[in-house]
Amino acid sequence: MGRRPEPVRFVADEMLGRLATWLRLLGQDVEYEAPVEDSWLLRRCLDDPGRILLTRDTRLMETRPVARGEVAAMLIGSDHLPDQLRQVIDSSEIKPLPARCGVCNSELILRDKAEVEGDVPAYVFRTQEVFRQCARCGRIYWRATQWDRIQNVRSSVFGE
Ligand SMILES: [Zn+2]
Repeated sequence: MGRRPEPVRFVADEMLGRLATWLRLLGQDVEYEAPVEDSWLLRRCLDDPGRILLTRDTRLMETRPVARGEVAAMLIGSDHLPDQLRQVIDSSEIKPLPARCGVCNSELILRDKAEVEGDVPAYVFRTQEVFRQCARCGRIYWRATQWDRIQNVRSSVFGE
């Protein structure tokens, strides 16, 4: 009986905020802070060895923990979001997981419609049936807005 392998996790540098958001919406665990020190990024990876550092910064790739292989890092080659997503997906074993909050990286929970009345605009409440809410920051997601965009990306990435 082997241990179930942990899902891939990431830390993204300051220049990769949009990539971090989209990977979260695809269900990936991505730590992201801005502004941030290089030392914090490296520390997070050293403290949690399953985390892969995503960076646009060649200088970071030359730091000692990365050069020595103590920190796994991926140099993101493009400034263009779709290319960035494609690079991460092609070069790491990410699996489709339920979307995480794009703002704070926490898990989303399904909410009963009645529970979100008053927390979403009235027309949204009238026209939508499925609501998910971030367990930490409270942001509410619903289908007509973010969800369709998320599903579009998920289907192009995972074939769902
Ligand atoms: Zn959140």
